[in-house]
Amino acid sequence: MSGLAVRFRELWDEIAPVGRDAGSGGYLRYALTAPELRLREWFRAQADLRGMPVSEDGNGNLFAWWGDPDTDGRAGSGAVLTGSHFDSVPHGGAYDGPLGIVSALLAVDELRAAGVTPVRPVVVAAFVEEEGARFGVPCLGSRLLTGEIDADRAAGLRDAAGVSFAEALGHRPAGADPALLGRFAAFVELHVEQGRALVDADAPVAVGSAIWPHGRWRFELRGEGNHAGTTRMGDRRDPMLTFAFTVLAANKEARLRDAHATVGRVSVEPNATNAVPSTVTGWLDARAAAPETLDGLVEAVRAKAAERARRDGTELTVTRESATPLVTFDGGLADRLTELLAAPVLPTGAGHDAGVLAAHLPTAMLFVRNPTGVSHSPAESATDDDCAAGVVALARVLEELACH
Ligand SMILES: [Zn+2]
Repeated sequence: MSGLAVRFRELWDEIAPVGRDAGSGGYLRYALTAPELRLREWFRAQADLRGMPVSEDGNGNLFAWWGDPDTDGRAGSGAVLTGSHFDSVPHGGAYDGPLGIVSALLAVDELRAAGVTPVRPVVVAAFVEEEGARFGVPCLGSRLLTGEIDADRAAGLRDAAGVSFAEALGHRPAGADPALLGRFAAFVELHVEQGRALVDADAPVAVGSAIWPHGRWRFELRGEGNHAGTTRMGDRRDPMLTFAFTVLAANKEARLRDAHATVGRVSVEPNATNAVPSTVTGWLDARAAAPETLDGLVEAVRAKAAERARRDGTELTVTRESATPLVTFDGGLADRLTELLAAPVLPTGAGHDAGVLAAHLPTAMLFVRNPTGVSHSPAESATDDDCAAGVVALARVLEELACH
C-alpha cells in the first residue's frame, strides 16, 4: 500500500464510526442530525488544521478556503470548487459523499507537499442534504445556493418527525447567492462509482460525461376489492395482475433500450392476505442516456399497462411526479481532464450536486472504482489504493485548474 493510501485510511478511520448502524453496517447520516453535525464539526477541525478558513452560505453548505475567502485570488480568475456531501440514504454506504470531501482535503495536502502554489483559491465544499433522505428534496443545499428551489419552500420542508428544514438549520435558509457562485470558476466533484463500469474497464478512476435524464412516475391501478375465497377467478377485477404485468413490462422495455427501469415501491389497498386488492400503486423510476429514449421507455410501459388494464377490467392513471433533464458536463473541461488523467469517460444514472451546479458553472466529475458496483447500501466499497488514486487524480485536476 502506498503512503498516500495509508494516509487515506488514517483520515477515513476518523469518520468511519460516525453514524454507522451496528445492525446493518450501513450509515444513518441524515442532514443536520447528530451524526452529520459531528461530521461537519470534523470538517471544520480538518480545515482548521490546514489553515483553511470556513465560510457558510446561509443554506447549510460549508466552504473551506485554501486562499482568502474575501478576495478572488488573482483578480477575476475565480476559485476552483471541489467537495461533496456527508449525508447518507437510510443504511447507505460509507463512500457516497464523504469520499469526495476526504479526497479533497488529502488533495490539498498532496499539492502543498509538492510545493504547488495555486494562483486562485481552492475551495472544499460540504453540501447539505444531497440525498434528500431527511427533507425529501435531493441536492437541497446546491439547489438553494443556485436558486433552483425557493428559500421559503425549502424552509418549510419537513422531515418524518415534523421538524422543518429552517428549524433544523436554526434559521430560514438564505437562498440563492449569485455573488458567491460567481466567485467559482469551476466545480469538480469526486464520487464513488455507483455501478461496475470501472471494474469492467479495469481502471481506478474515470471522468464523468453526463448525468442521464431521469424521473419518477406513479402508476395507480384501481380494480374491485373482493373476497379471496368466494370471488370466482373469472369475475375478478384484480389490479395486482395489471401491476405485476407492468413491472415485467418496465423491465423488458428498459432492457430493449439499454435504459434503467425500477419499481422499488408499491402500496396495496387494503393490503390483506385474503382480499383481492382494490388499488395498487407502484412507483416507476426510469433513467436513460437520452431524453427521447426515456420518453419512449415510459410511453411503452404506459401503453402496455393500459392494454393489460383493459384485459383485467382495471383502471390506470399515470402521474409524473418528478423529472430531471439530461445534464451534460462541460465538454471542454471533461476533455481537458480526460487528457490529463488518461482516464475512461463514464455517464452516470445517479443525480449529484454536480448536476445542479453544472447549469451555473463549468463542472466535472471524477468517479472512483467500486468493486461491488453496489451503492446506497452497506455493500458499497472502494479499496484504499483506488481511493489514493482518486486523490492523485483530483490533486492533478486542482493543480491544472488552479495554477493555470
Ligand atoms: Zn452522493
